[in-house]
Amino acid sequence: MQIARRLDVISESITLAVQAQANALKKQGVDVVGFGAGEPDFDTPDPIKEAAIAALRSGKTKYEPTAGTPEARTAIAEKLRRFNRLDYSPEEVLISVGGKHSLYVAFMATLNPGDEVIIPAPYWVSYPEMVKLAGGVPIFVHGKPEHDFKVSPAQLTAAITPRTRMVIINSPSNPGGHTYHPQELAALAKALEGHPQVMVCSDEIYERLLFNGQTTCSWASLNWDVWKDRTITCNCLSKTYAMTGWRIGYTAGPAALIGAMNKLQSQMTSNITSFCMPAIVSALTDPANEVQIQTMRTAFEQRGAHMYKRLNAIDGITCVRPTGAFYCFASIGGLLHKPLGPAGEICRDAIDFSRLLLAKAHVAVVPGNDFGFDDHIRLSFATSLSQIDKGLNRIQAFVAGGGAE
Ligand code: PMP
Ligand code: GLU
Repeated sequence: MQIARRLDVISESITLAVQAQANALKKQGVDVVGFGAGEPDFDTPDPIKEAAIAALRSGKTKYEPTAGTPEARTAIAEKLRRFNRLDYSPEEVLISVGGKHSLYVAFMATLNPGDEVIIPAPYWVSYPEMVKLAGGVPIFVHGKPEHDFKVSPAQLTAAITPRTRMVIINSPSNPGGHTYHPQELAALAKALEGHPQVMVCSDEIYERLLFNGQTTCSWASLNWDVWKDRTITCNCLSKTYAMTGWRIGYTAGPAALIGAMNKLQSQMTSNITSFCMPAIVSALTDPANEVQIQTMRTAFEQRGAHMYKRLNAIDGITCVRPTGAFYCFASIGGLLHKPLGPAGEICRDAIDFSRLLLAKAHVAVVPGNDFGFDDHIRLSFATSLSQIDKGLNRIQAFVAGGGAE
C-alpha cells in the first residue's frame, strides 16, 4: 500500500504515544504511575453531561450547520465577550472537533507553502507538525529556563523575515507551565504591531488554570483595533471542563477567516457531534460548572506546587515553577551521561531517560525532545497527590540506582 509523502515530514504525537505505552503496561498488570497524560483526572460536570443526554433523547441526532448551531456559537461569542473582552459575533466563531482540530483547520486555512511560523519553545508537540502539514515552515525561538521559558519581544522580532506569516502564542503554556502576564503579552504585541503581515494564533486552552494569583489575557484584547483582523483565537472545552474525550474546540476570528475555515471543514468533518452542541451551551452558561472549575484549579495549584518542590529536591533535576496549565517541565541535564537505575545504564537524552524510567521504575513521563528540549521531561500533575508522591519516590530511587519496588 502506498503511503503519501506528505506524512514523511511529521512524526506521531509523543504525548499520545506515551499514554498508549503506559496504558498497555497497565493492562499487563504493571502498576504504572502515569505523568504522561495531559488531561484532567476529574469527570465532566453533571450539568454538561445532562445537557448532552437530554439532547440525545430529544432526537438531536442529525446533521447540524458545519460551524455549529446558532445557540452554541452564540454561547461562545458571549463567553468571549464576558470573560475575554473580545467582541466577536456568533458568525465569527467556528466549532471544531477539539482544540487540535481547530488549530489544524486554522493553519490549513491561513498558511501558504513556505510561510514561516514562529513557535516559541518549549512548544506543544503538535504545533510544528500541523504547520508542516499545512505547508508552513516552523521557526523556533527558544525560551530559557532562567526566564521561565518566556521569550522576549527582541527574540520574536529577530526571528521575523519577509516570509514570516504567523506567531503562535500559548499562555498558559504546555509543556513549560509558564504564563505570560498581560504586560508581557502587551510588550510582545507592541513589537509585532509594526509587522502587519504577521498574524498571531493565540492558543488559550489553559486560560482557567492559573496558580498563585498569576494573570494572563486574550491576545486580541490587548489592542482590538489592531489585532482583531490579525488574530486567530483558539480554545476548547477539553481542559477547563474536563472534557478531553468529547472533542470540542472553537476558533474565533475575522469573518473571512471563519468563512475559509468553514469551507474547509465542510469538506472534512462537517459539524461536531450534534448532541454535544447543547452541552457547549451548558458548559459556558450554567454557573453550577464554575464550582468544579474552581475545585480543579485549586487541586492543580496544590499538586503543581508539591511536584515542583519534590522535583527540585532530586539531585540532577531542576524545574521552573508552574504558574499555569498542569505540567512541570523539568531539566534532567544533570542526569545524562551518568549511570542510572539498577543496571547503571547511561542516558544520552530525554528519550533514553523516559524509556528507562518507564521500563525500570514504571513511571511514565514525556521526553522533551518533541517539545524542543532534549534534556527535559514533562510531568503532568493532573493526577492525585498520592500518585505524585508514589511516582516521585520512584524517580528519586531510580536516580539513586534503584528500580521499581
Ligand atoms: N493546545 C494545547 C497547548 C494542548 O496542550 C492541547 C492538548 N490537548 C491542545 C491544544 C488540543 O486540545 P484538544 O484535546 O481539545 O484537541
Ligand atoms: N494536549 C495533551 C498533552 O499534551 C493531550 C494529548 C495531545 O493531544 O497531545 O498531553
